[in-house]
Amino acid sequence: MARIVVISTGGTIASRWQGSGFAADARGQEVMATAAVPEDVTVEVVDLFSVNSPRLTTAHQLTLLRTVHDVLADPGVDGVVVTHGTDTLEESAFLVDLHHDDPRPVVFTGAQLPLDAEDGDGPRNLYDALLTAARTRGLGVLVAFDGKVHSARGTVKTQTVAADAFADPSGPRIGTIGFGKISVLRHPRRPAALPLPEASSPPPRVDMVMHHADGDAVLLNAAVDAGAQGLVLVATGAGNATPEIVDAVAAARARGVLVALTTRV
Ligand code: ASP
Repeated sequence: MARIVVISTGGTIASRWQGSGFAADARGQEVMATAAVPEDVTVEVVDLFSVNSPRLTTAHQLTLLRTVHDVLADPGVDGVVVTHGTDTLEESAFLVDLHHDDPRPVVFTGAQLPLDAEDGDGPRNLYDALLTAARTRGLGVLVAFDGKVHSARGTVKTQTVAADAFADPSGPRIGTIGFGKISVLRHPRRPAALPLPEASSPPPRVDMVMHHADGDAVLLNAAVDAGAQGLVLVATGAGNATPEIVDAVAAARARGVLVALTTRV
């Protein structure tokens, strides 16, 4: 038997109608009860949060990271599934992957349709995630969604409402799931894991600013004034912006702010 621990964090997969919208309110055990469990798999549930993922904070994400490590400290556990809102699933999955140094998989999943939807996608996604956690090794942190397995590194939400919500725009998926079987199509190259962040040090403020036609340095400077210790400048093309923004980056650097440059492309 494969022993899989499901860590429940909320999201649409745990959401019900609240009168004016859907919100995560189901316990992990309720979410788990919606799904079939693959043969030869036993499940234990950790009911960590009931949060819709646009409301997640770095503190939630660090708690999740430490919980994954605590769960995997038990050598009798064969794999972990994390149920999560789809909106920021890619952020949490990437964070856990940065610190993941274990052949046992951590598989993120969620749903586009709420817990009480007829024909919702949550039960199937959860079943597929359990299967992936039980049957794969050495692939790092994964996202199982709509019959596909993606690597946490590079995968983003690409569809707002469609069931096939995740993709890696820079590479092929890791595998496919169908008829109770997983076909692994490629093994991701994985850099060495980072050590776990110190529990005592508060996470630094990091802001993200996107450049666009007619964009100026107002938001970048506001981030620095707000105390950002790091900035991600999402520039255009090959990392281009205006001379005014280049000057603002130099001023931020002079104040000790670390600036990471990326591109909208
Ligand atoms: N729409 C989101 C979801 O699919 C809500 C969230 O991320 O919690 O789960």
